[in-house]
Amino acid sequence: MPSPSALFSQRSLILALLLLLACGFLATSLLSYYASRGAIRDGIVNTELPLTSDTVYSEIQKDLIRPVLISSMMAQDTFLRDWVLGGEQDTTRVTRYLGEVMGSQVTCTSFFVSDRSLTYYQAKGVLKQVRPDAWRDAWYFRLRQSNKPYEINVDLDMANQDKLTVFINHRVLDYQQRFIGAAGVGLSVESVVRLIDDYQRRYQRSVLFTDAQGKVLLTGSDGGPHGLRAGQQLADSNQWQALLARMPTPTTGSHEYTDNDGHSHFLNVRLLPELGWYLLVDKRETGALERIRQSLYLNLAICAMITLVVLSLLNAMVKRHQDNAEALATLDSLTGLPNRRSFDLLAGQALVEAQRDSAPLVALLIDLDHFKALNDTHGHLAGDEVLRQFANVLQSSLRQSDILCRWGGEEFIVLLREAEGRQAIEVAEKIRRRTEQLTFSYADQPLRLTASIGLSALQRGDSLHNLLTRADHALYRAKQGGRNRVCSEMPGTDHA
Ligand code: GH3
Ligand code: MG
Ligand code: MG
Repeated sequence: MPSPSALFSQRSLILALLLLLACGFLATSLLSYYASRGAIRDGIVNTELPLTSDTVYSEIQKDLIRPVLISSMMAQDTFLRDWVLGGEQDTTRVTRYLGEVMGSQVTCTSFFVSDRSLTYYQAKGVLKQVRPDAWRDAWYFRLRQSNKPYEINVDLDMANQDKLTVFINHRVLDYQQRFIGAAGVGLSVESVVRLIDDYQRRYQRSVLFTDAQGKVLLTGSDGGPHGLRAGQQLADSNQWQALLARMPTPTTGSHEYTDNDGHSHFLNVRLLPELGWYLLVDKRETGALERIRQSLYLNLAICAMITLVVLSLLNAMVKRHQDNAEALATLDSLTGLPNRRSFDLLAGQALVEAQRDSAPLVALLIDLDHFKALNDTHGHLAGDEVLRQFANVLQSSLRQSDILCRWGGEEFIVLLREAEGRQAIEVAEKIRRRTEQLTFSYADQPLRLTASIGLSALQRGDSLHNLLTRADHALYRAKQGGRNRVCSEMPGTDHA
């Protein structure tokens, strides 16, 4: 059985390795996960979203910036100003003018509202009178008070089947810089909406335009991020709470926020200076990072499996090594017989059993004769080989139940179980005779040898020490008696 300290060091070795492998694998998996996550985030924040923003921006520039220039041209037009100052005579002149503007440009509507008559002119003629109490005309009265040259308004065009239209409303001033009306163009933003729709569908990113206060001006046909629609405020969607706490009004740059469902979002905000609008492109992180998260889990599972396999292999190896070491610790390395240490254990147990059952137990102390001379003559290696062969002689002369060990040097000890005096002497004699008769060999050299054996039987109340001391005395007598003989210290036997 492994000693408690060996068990402890084995456990702590395996535990240390487990920790080392787990930490190593965890560190490399997490490092590569965070590196890929960082790369994907960087890609989204620095490339994907700005690219979308660029494309949408250039599209809206194409669609909107030119109409801003056209409106500004109209506001500066001397014909229009002269016609108003001349008392708005001959409506056909202004409608033809408006028709020309519309025809030559890709706008879908062009208009002029006179401040004097509050008449709304367009290419097809007079559309209506604007009224301060009509919500559809609120833009005009707002513009009249405005100190900015123009306003951009997303609205439904009454003259164009109420399509979602962006109006560029430009203040028209007379030569003394007095407000005389509003001129401008309106254009359908269908192409921009189509582009937004396409982006939202294809790349799972949401696009919307807001004004500086965060009012949604334009988005895809199914709404923008979190379903926001034109006319609503960003704050109307409760998903933006975390973001709006940091960014109450749109601020140019990259932002990250977590919505109410716990999903992380990346948001790119950009100002369109010509329009005073903000373009927001939003992307949910989850979809993009799901794949690398899965590969992290797979990675960790593989690492856990490798750790388990390595540890179980190591455990098996350590155990085998330990078993070997334990076997070596109890066996004599030259002869493979039990050594003195294990003899003490075996003999102690045999003694207890014999005492308990009042069974006979006989000890034989065997010493090879003139072994030193053999070593001196033939060398130490020859002596080793003879010891090995002699151990075989002993083993083959005994029963399975007998206890045999190498006592040290060229001395061996045997405990015969269940052997009465005579029988024991016969066994000892058999060993002595076989040794005497056997030709040992080393490097094809025949070597002859004899053994002296001292014998003692267990007596009531004997200790192992007493038993062996008596056997030693007997062996001494055998040596003194001329060697190659068996002497016993047993009551009732007269052997030698
Ligand atoms: P005696 O008949 O009185 O027993 O004489 P001996 O020479 O056998 O006794 P002694 O105790 O003088 O010498 C024992 C020798 O056994 C000395 C030692 O070198 C040798 N020896 C002890 N262990 C080993 C071993 O493992 N291998 C070899 N080759 N020789 C050993
Ligand atoms: Mg000796
Ligand atoms: Mg000897």
